[in-house]
Amino acid sequence: MLEFIDQELEALKQTGLYRSFKTVTNSTGRLIEIDGKKLLNFCSNNYLGLANHPLVIAAANTATSEFGFGAGASRLISGNTLLHEKLEKKLAAFKGREEALVFSTGYLANLGVISALTGENDTIIIDRLNHASIIDACRLSKARLQVYKHRDLASLEAVLKRSAKCQKRLIVTDSIFSMDGDLAPLPEILSLAKKYDAVTMIDEAHATGTIGPRGQGLEEYYNLKGQVDIIMGTLSKALGSLGGFIAGEAKLIDHLRNKARSFIYTTALPPSACAAALAALEVIEAEPERKKRLQQNICLANTLLGNLRLNVAVSKEPRRSASGSLEQQSPIFPIIIGDNERTMRVSQQLYERGFYVSAIRPPTVPDGEARLRITLTSEHTKEDLECLASSLQELIPA
Ligand code: PMP
Repeated sequence: MLEFIDQELEALKQTGLYRSFKTVTNSTGRLIEIDGKKLLNFCSNNYLGLANHPLVIAAANTATSEFGFGAGASRLISGNTLLHEKLEKKLAAFKGREEALVFSTGYLANLGVISALTGENDTIIIDRLNHASIIDACRLSKARLQVYKHRDLASLEAVLKRSAKCQKRLIVTDSIFSMDGDLAPLPEILSLAKKYDAVTMIDEAHATGTIGPRGQGLEEYYNLKGQVDIIMGTLSKALGSLGGFIAGEAKLIDHLRNKARSFIYTTALPPSACAAALAALEVIEAEPERKKRLQQNICLANTLLGNLRLNVAVSKEPRRSASGSLEQQSPIFPIIIGDNERTMRVSQQLYERGFYVSAIRPPTVPDGEARLRITLTSEHTKEDLECLASSLQELIPA
């Protein structure tokens, strides 16, 4: 019985695609301890260090004492607490929208909104490098799926022209692409959406808290506040908590409360997760220096990593200016090595030197584009980045 599983696992091992856990024994944000070994953590999405902020931890503890840990039921039964509602108000204000709805994870928020809003006669139009949760949402929806080339506006326009006959069209893009760290060309996407009468949605999982002068996301970054129809975000990255959300017009949220199956048929987020996210949003406002420090680290990484001469596959992404300097605007820096096993080896060598940098392999990224994915946080120091850069230069010499 189940011999096919042995074969499939063996095939993963043979192709360098087998995945296994590392056991975290302690974590303080900048530092992580794995099986007792202390490392600098360069692969967490805790971009502003808020998962470890004393006010965030205290808010979660207080909520647990007041409400218990589990919510005990779905939001529409007895799981809807005052904290869920307060958080939704705060998220709506942060994203400049009428209302917001919190889901148990960002993954479930994408599944819920996309499958609730689209049906048989519709077309969903996505960037080729959108997150897996968007792709899975499209699989769940009965709508037709059309994929355009990564950040390619001519390809998007061709799809819009081709799909003119369907009832409605929904364009969905990551704001910051999770494995490449580049930004969606939002101004151009919005003008194409207007020209072809399409609904727009952005996934702000990595953009919330990290981009725009106040960390409000890609609309704020491009000075286009209020222009996108549907905003999706997660509480699990810069906000240091757990959960996902959709923000938009009140009627959109009302519709989701009634139709989004991944919202209706699951237990509400623990009240402590709501309290933690609320506190994190307050800290983002009260301590703008965190965002500033993150920005400084992004600038420093552009210089340090941009100056490295590495023997790696040339990135296909337009992350370098005409003069050759690195111009990443997000905290995500991929180093595309190409070969799966070589990528794993370099990640392991970095680990031995005290740096935790994850190796990302297919199917998370396209075949032949295995990479190290370095994520920066506000908590890293200049020395942390300098040491990482010099180790990379030694381990992947030109
Ligand atoms: N969208 C993107 C772009 C993501 O990177 C992620 C998380 N990796 C999600 C959605 C899902 O969010 P969550 O982890 O809260 O389920």
